[in-house]
Amino acid sequence: LIIIAVTLMSCSQSKVSITKHTIEEKFIDSVLATMSIDDKIGQTNLRGTSSRAKTLSEELKEDVRQGKVGALLNVMKVEFVDELQKIAVEESPNKIPLIFGRDVIHGFKTIFPIPIGLAASWDTDIAKSSSRIAAIEASSVGIRWTFAPMLDIARDSRWGRIAESPGEDPYLASVLGKAYIQGFQGDSLNSPTSIAACAKHYIGYGAVMGGRDYNTTIIPEPLMRNVYLPPFESALGAGAATVMTSFNEINGIPATGNEFLLKDVLRDELKFDGFVVSDWDSVVEMIAHGYAKDEKQAGELAANAGMDMEMTSKAYEHHLKDLIKEGKVTERQLDEFVKNILRIKLRLGLFETPYRDKANEANFYKEAHLAEAKEAAIKGSVLLKNKQILPLSSDTKVALIGPLADAPLDQMGTWTFDGEKEHTITPLKAFKEADVNFKYVSALTHSRDQSKEQFQKAVNAVKDSDIIVFVGGEEAILSGEAHSRATIDLPGAQEDLIKILHKTGKPIVLVIMAGRPITITNIIDDVDAVLISWHPGTMGGMALREIIYGVREPEGRLPVSWPKEAGQLPYFYNHKSTGRPANKEDYVAMYDIPVGAWQSSLGNDSHYLDIGYTPHFPFGFGLGYTDFKYDDLQISKDTIGFAETLIIKTSITNIGERAGKEVVQLYTQDVVGSITRPVRELKGFQHVDLNIGETKEVTFKILAEQLEFTNHKGIHAAEEGDFNIWVGSNAASGLKGTFYLKK
Ligand code: BGC
Repeated sequence: LIIIAVTLMSCSQSKVSITKHTIEEKFIDSVLATMSIDDKIGQTNLRGTSSRAKTLSEELKEDVRQGKVGALLNVMKVEFVDELQKIAVEESPNKIPLIFGRDVIHGFKTIFPIPIGLAASWDTDIAKSSSRIAAIEASSVGIRWTFAPMLDIARDSRWGRIAESPGEDPYLASVLGKAYIQGFQGDSLNSPTSIAACAKHYIGYGAVMGGRDYNTTIIPEPLMRNVYLPPFESALGAGAATVMTSFNEINGIPATGNEFLLKDVLRDELKFDGFVVSDWDSVVEMIAHGYAKDEKQAGELAANAGMDMEMTSKAYEHHLKDLIKEGKVTERQLDEFVKNILRIKLRLGLFETPYRDKANEANFYKEAHLAEAKEAAIKGSVLLKNKQILPLSSDTKVALIGPLADAPLDQMGTWTFDGEKEHTITPLKAFKEADVNFKYVSALTHSRDQSKEQFQKAVNAVKDSDIIVFVGGEEAILSGEAHSRATIDLPGAQEDLIKILHKTGKPIVLVIMAGRPITITNIIDDVDAVLISWHPGTMGGMALREIIYGVREPEGRLPVSWPKEAGQLPYFYNHKSTGRPANKEDYVAMYDIPVGAWQSSLGNDSHYLDIGYTPHFPFGFGLGYTDFKYDDLQISKDTIGFAETLIIKTSITNIGERAGKEVVQLYTQDVVGSITRPVRELKGFQHVDLNIGETKEVTFKILAEQLEFTNHKGIHAAEEGDFNIWVGSNAASGLKGTFYLKK
């Protein structure tokens, strides 16, 4: 077997893939032929362990020895990894190596901004480099599989896992998804620093009712195909090795037992040939869903749906053999699971090199890793308001206040298991390390602190300062799994403190570190600048210092619409029009208003009496330290055929007083469709650097295939008709043009 595996590994890229495929399948078949039913079931078992375990349990070792385990999750001691792998490859019945998996979500030791913060960079290079660095660090302790990226479109900021999401837009999520896969998996899976990625959660997990985690989803097929599926298609196109099912049910069928999604869509249509893993216990959760009557039936439903590997629960381990004997599941189905799993183990090179690369030992917190983490935090920071206060000059006397100014763990954000607070640079630490004039008073011990005892101390500190930098937001624990919020404002006494500080007459720069958009309607007029850092990770404090003092400008743009109130949720820019736009003029005004003036737009009749219709800040929005002017939108043709390319050009000028970066965004609207179409859809974006006074021409291309969608009849096509087009700096502005797509 080893000889075949080695031959396969040395099979050069240039040889036709069919040969590679055949050798791969021959190898897999040859391993399968040596396996008993028990051995096969063992491969489908992803065993959870406690990452805090001090010793390796004898029971686990024995199970590995007997071939009862295919993969392990959360084995954190590297010596345990080595020992278990040795048992698997030397003593288990078929000598099949284990895969060690872990939630390496936004960095391993060097922590990058939470995924929504990375998404705010709108930068595929940084998505790729952050996941590459995470892979290098994680693989150094034997982890060869991460449960990332999460590709759930998230349109409700109450949902705790919006922190881990790529935001609300399928196009942005798709380009980021591809980049994450490229980063984690490297140029080839078969490299000691490559780790198998896992596109999760398949599918619709972000559409849970009311943002309540694990809740029901209702996703008609066109919506599934037009919004929720594209990021997965993109990740699979980039070679994602594994896919994780989601906890939720969809239209009455839990995702983990959903044959249509797992077989028809994933395998038959998308040609996925890696393996599918359930989410944590999601097989047996089908009992509580009311879809399976007991553990055995849950196993049967998952198996017949085509779910390959079971995470933590044991329905397969306990029942698959009997289910096969009883003819309820075929052995062929089990063989398919094992082949899918072995295929990825083979592609990872584990048969040839089961152990971690000692040359890559403890490859943590390297200078280059930290530099990239700082870069990511700068690129993901979004400036929402700036009354000409930022950047500060270096001699400004600053009062640094707020519960997140020195909260190293919270700053790393949710889904951080391995980052260490000793390595985290908080704003306080970054300010101390620099030659800046500042005083620090936390005033609140943590984000939910209700106590006002320290307020006077903060007011005193402000007296001889020129400006207040208030670093607030949410603790990490307010985001993540099962951590949804019904109100999404600044928790604790933060708003009260800001109001008191405002009375001192000193300008306030509000920095928000949070796992979601935070409603700031109550305090927006009390502050002079608002900068969103999300939970920025290990280097967040350094990034913040550089932004505040103008070494760099904040480069991020919102990957989600920023609501005025939680009561507006779910809200997303690419919604449909109602039959009641207030009147045609207002409707046009809503989408044609000049940059910056969108707040005054009237919205449409589908509004709330108290807060109107529009969000506080639109999708795509973000200020820098200069201003841009868009001119002269040119569309190459009034009418294009299906095989033609439309060329869109616009010029953009830096009209401010320093060099800056803009994210130029292209949106379209299919005016009339066989099913109603969104009012706008992002179709492309480009990063442009402009010196003072400089003008550049930006060119986009549109092909008919970019205008395709799936309708109620399951037809996936672009449709003849009128299209609107906008090029601009966010989803509520831009220069507008039109074209006609003709058959
Ligand atoms: C989460 C997954 C995660 C898994 C393993 C589950 O509870 O939903 O996203 O990968 O646990 O930790």
